[in-house]
Amino acid sequence: MMRFEALSALKVQKPLVVKELEKRSELYARNVFNDAKMLQFLTEESYNKVQAAIFSGGKIDRKIADQVAEGMKAWAISMGATHYTHWFQPLTGATAEKHDAFFDVMDNGQGLERFGGSQLVQQEPDASSFPSGGIRNTFEARGYTAWDPTSPAFVYKTTLCIPTIFVSYTGEALDNKAPLLRALHAVDHAATAVAQYFDKNVRKVNATLGWEQEYFLVDKALAQSRPDILMTGRTLVGNAAAKQQQLDDHYFGVIPNKVLAFMSALERQCMLLGIPVKTRHNEVAPNQFELAPVFEEANLSVDHNLLLMDVMKEIADDHGFKVLFHEKPFAGINGSGKHNNWSLATDTGVNLLSPGSTPMKNLQFLTFFINTIKAVDTYEELLRSSIASASNDHRLGGHEAPPAIFSIFVGTQLGEVLDELEGVSKGKLSPQEKTELKLNVVGKIPEILLDNTDRNRTSPFAFTGNKFEMRGVGAKTSCSKPMTVLNTIVAQQLMDFKKEVDVLIDKKGLKKDEAVFNVLREYIKTSKRIRFDGDGYSKKWQDEARKRKLSHNKNTPDALKILTSIESISLFGATGVMNEKELIAHQEVELHNYISHLQIEGSILRELAYNHIIPAALRHQNLLLENIAGLKEVYGAAHKKLTEPQLNVLELISEHMVGLKKTTDRMLEAKQKVDAKADIMQKAEAYCEVILPFFDTIRTHADALEELIADDIWPLAKYRELLFIK
Ligand code: ADP
Ligand code: MG
Repeated sequence: MMRFEALSALKVQKPLVVKELEKRSELYARNVFNDAKMLQFLTEESYNKVQAAIFSGGKIDRKIADQVAEGMKAWAISMGATHYTHWFQPLTGATAEKHDAFFDVMDNGQGLERFGGSQLVQQEPDASSFPSGGIRNTFEARGYTAWDPTSPAFVYKTTLCIPTIFVSYTGEALDNKAPLLRALHAVDHAATAVAQYFDKNVRKVNATLGWEQEYFLVDKALAQSRPDILMTGRTLVGNAAAKQQQLDDHYFGVIPNKVLAFMSALERQCMLLGIPVKTRHNEVAPNQFELAPVFEEANLSVDHNLLLMDVMKEIADDHGFKVLFHEKPFAGINGSGKHNNWSLATDTGVNLLSPGSTPMKNLQFLTFFINTIKAVDTYEELLRSSIASASNDHRLGGHEAPPAIFSIFVGTQLGEVLDELEGVSKGKLSPQEKTELKLNVVGKIPEILLDNTDRNRTSPFAFTGNKFEMRGVGAKTSCSKPMTVLNTIVAQQLMDFKKEVDVLIDKKGLKKDEAVFNVLREYIKTSKRIRFDGDGYSKKWQDEARKRKLSHNKNTPDALKILTSIESISLFGATGVMNEKELIAHQEVELHNYISHLQIEGSILRELAYNHIIPAALRHQNLLLENIAGLKEVYGAAHKKLTEPQLNVLELISEHMVGLKKTTDRMLEAKQKVDAKADIMQKAEAYCEVILPFFDTIRTHADALEELIADDIWPLAKYRELLFIK
């Protein structure tokens, strides 16, 4: 049996030796066509054009594209690349690439390396197999990828990878990157306009993102011995090990040698690719770990996270591991998330969510701080939808991750500042009030933040000193979805804010700071319900949140409904992030993904029950029967006393075997009915309400059988083996 082959192979495995001969800083970004390489390989003209395009999103004409392609090719070949690819992010949530060789044959039969502007700028992958939510059926059947110059090209192994967006011929986004870029553009525009109230020199505002990636490492052979881990990334059955995480002895503990070797190799590769990884540690659950980089501009950071996940899978494989990004791979212990730390930074080097040294800078901080709170309050349900997935449903609200209710933690002291600002007078402010505000409210903020250490781990959206941290994001998901929504709602909010402030200045004759205070005061009043500093895991909060009319969409189908509401369509339209067609399409793809996940899990459960667990149960029963028959033969009528325990186990096994088979069959029958539904939302809802509950019952029977059946007959690697063997 694969389980036992895997276990004996484990005994002989030693950690790979990973030598770090060069300093990390020397490796950093060696494989990236970044600014330094561009200066070296591009003409001055094309260098300037690319820089301008990066800064303002300007177009790059064909002649310049040819020059850039030439320089990129020369550099890539010098790095050992033989192929190039447009690297994109279809709505499957993963990355996609199709490699083409630089190699070509000239008319005279001679070979050469070729790569021109047209290949750099645009490609047409055979895209018919990527999800489009109906966009490509109703319009053109084709999709194309287009160069995103804001994320630098890089060489991975022997391929030059060019980050691209993926859109239909009519311009609709078929990926997660195009909407993200539009959202970043919108927030840049809106935030720059507001930042200019405080500093006329600001020309651009970048959203920044620093993710924290959690993951599990399990032995590769053991993982492969389990169809559920192999096909779904999680265990669909399995009993908790005797010792799980109750001793808290793994968190921040000594990293095991084999894992450390993996981490070193991974981090070296990350350095070469320009992914600025910095932190590594054990997480709460056994065999769970975390990795975090230095934060970066959000689009680049999203790309880096996706690239990281791909690289991790490969390097884990080299080191005899399978890496699991699933949000809930094991029942009974913590799952994995990906906190998204987010802020806004100006091109003048100022973090807009960081208080400064003067009252004016602190007013700027308050402006962005309060506008973010207001945005989250208005669009809390939409933000919730951005982290919805079949796998994350298992984690949200499970007392290990925030609930599916959005709220904001600001801490007691900042809460007090907001309370004070609520009392600011309407209209013009008296000189005394201004002085009082400057000295005692706004002026005190830096000191407050210095000792604002009371962090609340149960909050889904916490202010942590100079950034907000979004904690409900799943480990597997692309950050682009939550980042698209967050930056879109903040963009809209800042546009609304600017309008209101300008009216007070132009029509009511208020000074700028008076106008700002006046608008902020109203925002504080109207967004109170979103602020919550208490225990987000508690039942009390769920009741309280209901009273506050905050949404609580516990599952993905419910969470996704808001995407196509009138308010969402108008928000995404006004900010230019997505049109109605795209929203409908993206919702459809998300629903389709949800259904597919549950379909696969259903099929794997059938396989586990029929082909693995029931045969093992029968084998154990046969042993018992043999034993009972033997005892009867030897002891005759007196056998009864001796065979009682065997009979008891025999019957228990039968009971659960019948239960397992019946529930599986009922689930498969129900699945057929649900699959016949035409409406995709109804189908997803039925999967959630009708099919999913079967999974739990199936698991109960399977886990009971695991407890009854001899260890040397049980075919599936156990939690103890998956989580504790180092
Ligand atoms: P933790 O949340 O585990 O206590 P930290 O608060 O130190 O850890 O930081 C976590 C993450 O926050 C890091 O990945 C870091 O890059 C990111 N981060 C720090 N400052 C910013 C910022 N201004 N914008 C976005 N991310 C940031
Ligand atoms: Mg964190």
